[in-house]
Order: sequence, then C-alpha cells, then structure tokens
Amino acid sequence: APTIGILALQGAYEAHARMLSQLGADCLWVRTAADLQGIDGLVLPGGESSTMLHHLQQTPQLYAALQEFVTTKPCLGTCAGLILLAQAVLPQQPSLGALAVTVQRNAYGRQRDSHITSAQTNLAGGPLEAVFIRAPRITALSPEVQVLADCDGTPVLVQQGQVMGCSFHPELGADSRVHAYWLNGF
Ligand code: GLN
Repeated sequence: APTIGILALQGAYEAHARMLSQLGADCLWVRTAADLQGIDGLVLPGGESSTMLHHLQQTPQLYAALQEFVTTKPCLGTCAGLILLAQAVLPQQPSLGALAVTVQRNAYGRQRDSHITSAQTNLAGGPLEAVFIRAPRITALSPEVQVLADCDGTPVLVQQGQVMGCSFHPELGADSRVHAYWLNGF
C-alpha cells in the first residue's frame, strides 16, 4: 500500500485520511520537512491558503522541502491545496507552482460562495458531486494540463502528470473516485 502524507498545518485534512484509508492507503500527517521523507504522495487539503502559507513561511525548511517534493512526487491539492500548487494566484499570493494553472481565490460569487453542484467528468461512473466552499476558480491553464472535470465549462479537476488539483472538496461525501484515480496513477 502507498504511504500518503497529508499536509496537516490547518484545514480539512482529517477527511482526506478517512477516504484514503478506506482505499487502502497508509496515511500520516505532514508537519515538518522530515515528515516528507518516506511518503509516496502528498495531499494538500482545503482550508485557508493564506494561513497555510503563513505557517510555511514560518518554517522555511518545510517550505523548501515541499517545493522540492511537488516537482518530483504525486500530489493532490484540493481547494486551498490547489491554490498552493498553482503557478499563479489572484489576488497575488506566493505558491509552489507545480500546476500550470492560474486560480482566482474565492471566485465563485457571493450567493454561490459555498454550494453543492454536479460536475461533468470523464472519470468512469458519471457526474461527480462537487462541494464548493469559498472555492478557487481555475481561470487559465496551460496546454500540458488536462481537464478531468468541469462545471459549465469551467475546469474544476485538473491533472498535470502526477499532480492533480481540484477546486471542490472530493474528501467530503461518499464518492472516492477522485482519490482512487489519483492513487491509481502511482
Ligand atoms: N478560500 C480559501 C483560500 O483562499 C479556500 C477555501 C477552501 O479551501 N475551502 O485559501
């Protein structure tokens, strides 16, 4: 079974562990640079990207190790995690740059700030239930980035090699197809 690290500085990391454990992965929390050693892949969860970034800037060793990790190993970033993985963030915010996308934070409009909808996907099994919580919108992507799911034409689940990013929260609810797909690529 793969050993998956889950960045556990802040945010919605517990639900990822539940889902990945159900899929047979061994999970551990990542809070230090040393925690990144010996894991096969990393989940960057939802939460507040600016808060996570603040933690990372306080722990430069972890920040540097993470920058290295995301260029060489499988990563899955959801919501705030997608923001951390993106190449460009609006309004401007530092990021790890592992996914060639631009994201706009909190971009789904006030009345739709948090909502549940259905995303069209080419993953087997039909549309995905997509929980959006003050979600980032993917506003631009490079040709090397594949779209795995969209809502009304806006990409919400993307992949670039072994790195995946998701605007919504696939760890909430019962549908584990996003995590299963990611693990399958290992
Ligand atoms: N609004 C958050 C941010 O900008 C992301 C929200 C989430 O992860 N649910 O980081």
